[in-house]
Amino acid sequence: MRVGGQAEWLLEPATPDELCRAVAAVRERGLRLRMLGGGANLLVADGLLEGCVIATARLRRVFRPPPGEGEDAHSAADATGRVAPAPVEEDPRLVAWCGASLPGLVRRAGELGLSGLEMLAGVPGHLGGGVAMNAGGRLGWMWDVVEHVRVLDADGAVRDLAREECAPAYRDGNLGGRIVVSAVLRLELDSSAAVRERGREILLAKNAVQPVVEASSGCIFKNPDPEASAGRTAGELVDACGLKGLSRGAAVVSPLHGNFIVNRGGASAGDVFGLIDDVRERVAEATGIALECEVQQWRNED
Ligand SMILES: Cc1cc2nc3c(=O)[nH]c(=O)nc-3n(C[C@H](O)[C@H](O)[C@H](O)COP(=O)(O)OP(=O)(O)OC[C@H]3O[C@@H](n4cnc5c(N)ncnc54)[C@H](O)[C@@H]3O)c2cc1C
Repeated sequence: MRVGGQAEWLLEPATPDELCRAVAAVRERGLRLRMLGGGANLLVADGLLEGCVIATARLRRVFRPPPGEGEDAHSAADATGRVAPAPVEEDPRLVAWCGASLPGLVRRAGELGLSGLEMLAGVPGHLGGGVAMNAGGRLGWMWDVVEHVRVLDADGAVRDLAREECAPAYRDGNLGGRIVVSAVLRLELDSSAAVRERGREILLAKNAVQPVVEASSGCIFKNPDPEASAGRTAGELVDACGLKGLSRGAAVVSPLHGNFIVNRGGASAGDVFGLIDDVRERVAEATGIALECEVQQWRNED
């Protein structure tokens, strides 16, 4: 959204081991810890944000698992760095560190002829944010392809969780505040041309209905329970209430998509928070539905 202030402390670990040590250092000092992925579903308040932000931007590695490592694909590459992978026909999986970009992963899978990530075409952000938020849409979700996720527990222990041990839900990886270090993604063999064509079609369809060239934080609200909203999405409710184009300062409800707020240049985080409140109030008055925020909000008081 390109709004918000500064972090008091910022750490940018470059390996999973550095990430674990960074988290331990922050906890030892009793600082509030926040994980930053691509910042694509995040609103940061104006002013100084207390505590420490750990950014995953340098944890970008994506690789195919080495042969013979079975389920422990994460560790093999942690220990040895670059290792010769198994042929893709024998093992159609990818391992990604938490800072791997989602668009980069979609592209890499397409090049390798691995299907399953096309539904994330046009979704910005990093793997860690995508797993924490269970990114996706009606065509599928991040967790559809997650086989294992390596997490850092509150006590600092590293754990590998199989998909079956987690209960990911709509826009929620359900990891209970754990930190995503890396994930093993199980994909399916297909032709590279077919995978890339499907991704291209999904991307074009998204670009036609979302304000992708403007600064935004993706969808602001979760879609409400379809029974309560008669099947209308959050964006459709905002539109039905005539709120597209509503503004505070340079923050505007996108005329293209009612569930996006865009920064037309120079908006403050306060403008965006205020506009979110305006929309929620007016939708509640008109329909009785209390919209819940999907976008994550970082404020000192929360
Ligand atoms: C134009 C546009 C289109 C979008 N379309 C979609 C869409 O179709 N579907 C969809 O689901 N989303 C969409 N989004 C939202 C966004 O792309 C996703 O939610 C994405 O998964 C956010 O990832 P991120 O790395 O940017 O997370 P961030 O915004 O950085 O963080 C989001 C949350 O994840 C947490 N987090 C980040 N990294 C980690 C980690 N390593 N471990 C634990 N927690 C972590 C953060 O603390 C925060 O709570 C869109 C956004 C934009 C701007």
